[in-house]
Amino acid sequence: MTRAAVYMRQSLDRDNTREGIARQRERCLGLAELRGWEVVTEYIDNDVSASKPRGVGTAWHRLLEDAAAGRVEVIVAVDQDRLLRSLRDLVALIELGVKVVTVDGEIDLASADGEFRATMAAGLARFEVRRKSERQQRANTHRRTTGLPAGGRRAFGYTPLARGAGAITATRLGADGREWPAYGHEPFEPEASAVRRGFDMLLAGAPLRAIARDWNAAGLTTTAGAEWTSPAVRGVLSNPRYAGLVAPPRSSGAASIPHNLRLGDLPAGSWEPLVAPETWAAARDLLADPARRSSPGPARRWLLSGLATCGVCGATMKGGVVRGVRVYRCSKSAHLARKRDDADHYIAEVVVERLSRPDAVDLLAQRDAPDVDAMRAELRVAQQGEANTLSLVARGLTSMQTAEATLRDVRKRIGELEAAMTDAGKVDVLGPLVTAGDVRAVWDGLDVDRQRAIVRALMSIEMRSPGKGSRAPRDEVGRLAHTAATMPLRWH
Ligand SMILES: [Zn+2]
Repeated sequence: MTRAAVYMRQSLDRDNTREGIARQRERCLGLAELRGWEVVTEYIDNDVSASKPRGVGTAWHRLLEDAAAGRVEVIVAVDQDRLLRSLRDLVALIELGVKVVTVDGEIDLASADGEFRATMAAGLARFEVRRKSERQQRANTHRRTTGLPAGGRRAFGYTPLARGAGAITATRLGADGREWPAYGHEPFEPEASAVRRGFDMLLAGAPLRAIARDWNAAGLTTTAGAEWTSPAVRGVLSNPRYAGLVAPPRSSGAASIPHNLRLGDLPAGSWEPLVAPETWAAARDLLADPARRSSPGPARRWLLSGLATCGVCGATMKGGVVRGVRVYRCSKSAHLARKRDDADHYIAEVVVERLSRPDAVDLLAQRDAPDVDAMRAELRVAQQGEANTLSLVARGLTSMQTAEATLRDVRKRIGELEAAMTDAGKVDVLGPLVTAGDVRAVWDGLDVDRQRAIVRALMSIEMRSPGKGSRAPRDEVGRLAHTAATMPLRWH
């Protein structure tokens, strides 16, 4: 009976699981059985990087010795990638006179044709090794290929990842009705709701400190037990994990996730997301905005300047000060001025009241929402296309020239989808307000630009003269009624 040896190698074994090895063994033993060979030894190189030499003490070295001594006639491996790292490896095996067969059929040194193809394959293996070592320097390959979340301290909003998560195959039903792996890292209340609320508030224009205040007021802390601060909130809301996307590992010493991550570069994880990818992308854009980073807050703007119109001539109203009182006045003529504080207060009350009504959701239905589901699906297809093309190049099945044209097209499309999805994430100014539990709190947390966008989306405002020699009532209810009577609104 032919004496066969199985050679297995796992290039990265971060989680100390032998899962990759187990799969390789299963497939190799299957092939040996099929060919009627007796497997006499197994050689396992674990944690030996393909770009480092396999010297004395490695399984590869023992394998060469055993082959030279005639103890092994056939070597079985899953693929050439696992077995060979250079043409020299292949030459060494050929000179020892052993047969080499891979499960994927790429190498069969028993025939001349097989030997020729193996020589070709060895060249490609070298290419692959180069490519992989580059990739591994940037990323945690194991985590990225399996779509697992990062280990370490529990992530805010999620339960802790179970030990040996990569080997857990049980599933659970998510709140979205889909099946998700039951390896931990599932939405954890009330933190998960706080994260969703945080994204809503951010996209509605609330400053990070307002979100930190909201979370602290809810009795929540970071998973390290610290009080929430603006930088800590930024760290959460900029993290693509909440959109179910695998983030690249942080470079050592970096405090936060880099803010230039693109949707098209982030592989989908296997856990339940808390927000949509486009929501995260819109948040990323907001957080990366240099104006937002450096300035303590937006310059004071007027809520209704340029929005409200003059009831006398129809021109827009602008902000100003008359005899020490802040007012809106007609931009064309001196015939009309109204107290700014009263007008702003009235409009805020009207907006909050309207958006607190149960039928406020109908305001959203009237809008043409872009089909983000379709865009998400297309982005996944484009990402897959990019990976497929690279794989064709690596296997020598297409020329780099052909591939470059394909890659250029697919990457251009990924860029377009990225932009469209990010816009979709930002587009609805009303959504976060309508879905908020406390509309007034969210409104009060918004900057003036965002409040103006909401007013503009909801209504047209006309300012009329408050009346000759008018004295507004002193009490708040009276003043509101007085303002309402002289500021007609038209709902859109
Ligand atoms: Zn006017």
